[in-house]
Amino acid sequence: MVVLQTNMKNIKQAVAKITRPTWQKIADEQVRHLWSCDTKGCSKLGEQISVDPSAYANAGTPICSECSNDLAYHGTEILVTR
Ligand SMILES: [Zn+2]
Repeated sequence: MVVLQTNMKNIKQAVAKITRPTWQKIADEQVRHLWSCDTKGCSKLGEQISVDPSAYANAGTPICSECSNDLAYHGTEILVTR
């Protein structure tokens, strides 16, 4: 009985180790941040653009090429290969 309990404990520990979430480094080329202009009346209103993470690091919040207001952040996507 003790052996069985020990084995179950070891199995549970092994499963927990496998399924524990961890952070993984991803190349900038595999990530894009989505932004768009939310300024009413702007001709670029709602037009979504993608910005490389390094562009954001270098220049901060991207601005609209039409009205020069800050763009609004709409999420991040990673490139998935199948
Ligand atoms: Zn705009």
